[in-house]
Amino acid sequence: MSTSRTGRPASLPSPRAALRLRPGTPVVMRSDGAVQCGADPRWALVLDGLSPAETSWLRDLSDRRHVTPEQSATRRGVAPARRELILDVLARAGMLVPPAPARRTSLAPGEAAADARVLGTLRTDGAGLATLAGRGAATVALAGLGRIGAAIALLVAAAGVGRLVLHDPQPVQTTDVGLGAYGEQDVGDPRDVALARLLNRRSPPPDIQVNGDAEPDVAVVVESRAALPARFTRLMSAAVPHLSVVAREADVAVGPLVRPGRSACVACLDAERADQDRDWPLVAAQLRQGPEQLQESSLTALAAATAAGQVLAQLDGHRPTAVGTCLEIALPDCLPRVRKLDPHPRCGCLAIAP
Ligand SMILES: [Zn+2]
Repeated sequence: MSTSRTGRPASLPSPRAALRLRPGTPVVMRSDGAVQCGADPRWALVLDGLSPAETSWLRDLSDRRHVTPEQSATRRGVAPARRELILDVLARAGMLVPPAPARRTSLAPGEAAADARVLGTLRTDGAGLATLAGRGAATVALAGLGRIGAAIALLVAAAGVGRLVLHDPQPVQTTDVGLGAYGEQDVGDPRDVALARLLNRRSPPPDIQVNGDAEPDVAVVVESRAALPARFTRLMSAAVPHLSVVAREADVAVGPLVRPGRSACVACLDAERADQDRDWPLVAAQLRQGPEQLQESSLTALAAATAAGQVLAQLDGHRPTAVGTCLEIALPDCLPRVRKLDPHPRCGCLAIAP
């Protein structure tokens, strides 16, 4: 038997009898009888030189999750020595994981059954429910609840975040209706009140708590045309990771995601702009004073999904791409462009103790 490379860490030490093939792993046939486990190039594994019984066994592992690999191998007539050899290969490739707990661990709608399976593919132990439990205990604060901010709130709530703190007392506009959260009946109500009402209707407490007094794990600030560094002073001094989202004329800048004292901040970005354009402070001040930027539908959808992805990556313990970068999403095709942002020498934010 030969195998191809795999990019996934080995399975956790565990009693062999307790392990199962990683949920969500497709097992497919290749030419010459080879069997491929997984399709993602980061961890797909090809096993060559298997007998028909061994091939049948592997497909059985994918289809029937309630039997152990040993039970299935016996039923399919796979020799114990070959069974152990193949299980060793699968374990080294991170293809075997402990079974998921039967008890409820996620507060997300539908217990986030779909999310749990997919998120488990990113974990050595396959425990997507543990990722969701972490999100359920997390607090995300959002300020600026137009179309984009409201859509971010709905996304992170659906992804299992347990507590949201909302701030935007401006009334819902007719231009906020449509894609996102608000309906015609919300027009004129304060945005944070209307959005809290919607979130509580979809997921009543305790499944989701809106506007508690918990310190946020991540804050998101959605602004128009140019970020105002002074708005982030308290988040910097309180060492709260935060994401800047700026809706502009025909694009949206998602980022930087600031880890205070450890990565470039919103003031670093402002200082960099001033280096490139000495009139930037004068221009930016006028841009910030204008009416709120209208948020077009496709930009709203992609910017909200991108921002939510960055927030969830931060909560889940990954390094989001927006740390030290801006993701610029522009019409007409809305493909994100990554622009690097280094800490600015004049800013001094890296001197702030996290
Ligand atoms: Zn800075």
